[in-house]
Amino acid sequence: MSEQKILIVEDEQMIAELERDYLEANGFAADIAPDGTEGMKKAMAGGYDMIILDVMLPGIDGFEICRAIRMSSDIPVMMVTARKEDVDKIRGLGLGADDYMIKPFSPPEMVARVKAHIAMHERLRADGGTEVKKNEIKIGGLRIIPQERRVFAGETEINLAKLEFDLLLFLAENPGIVFSKETLFEKVWGLEAMSDNATVTVHINRLREKLKEADPSIDCIETLWGAGYRMR
Ligand code: CA
Repeated sequence: MSEQKILIVEDEQMIAELERDYLEANGFAADIAPDGTEGMKKAMAGGYDMIILDVMLPGIDGFEICRAIRMSSDIPVMMVTARKEDVDKIRGLGLGADDYMIKPFSPPEMVARVKAHIAMHERLRADGGTEVKKNEIKIGGLRIIPQERRVFAGETEINLAKLEFDLLLFLAENPGIVFSKETLFEKVWGLEAMSDNATVTVHINRLREKLKEADPSIDCIETLWGAGYRMR
């Protein structure tokens, strides 16, 4: 597999270099565009697997660049902003951004999200643009059939509520990656959900109980204190 290439559009040099260093340390190639004009040019030229896009940029702002990208491409775009008030705009404007992070953010969290978005994007492409996933996932002693929304431990079928299944499937599809409560909430519940992050813990606990009930040896969802959860 060839190296995946990320475009970083960011005018704060220190942040841009931090992002680049973390991505490179994780096996990605990264290109920095230090202003909106250059960012627009590079994004439009293509050849990237994902774009990390700052909102406030000299020249052309991140919103405009995101809108332009979406006219021609479904590449994953993660917006980055220092202003909480931008979040409503990112969510509400129909920009088509896949994700966002608020500065200051944790670089490992950024890398985890980049990996997850690229994996998701590649899977969608492999499925011909549909979200139907035909294959079974075998992980942590479980067999998950996404299409039928069924989970088995050996021969025992485990009955999960909708969100419990969605949580399990998301973690199972991204094994080894640590997701914070916030990210899981966004990915599984959705940006428009009326609940809050605390519900993630409740659902994870219930999900674990159900898995354990089916097979006491199952312990596939790992808690990393202060960081989040991951599928072993
Ligand atoms: Ca900026």
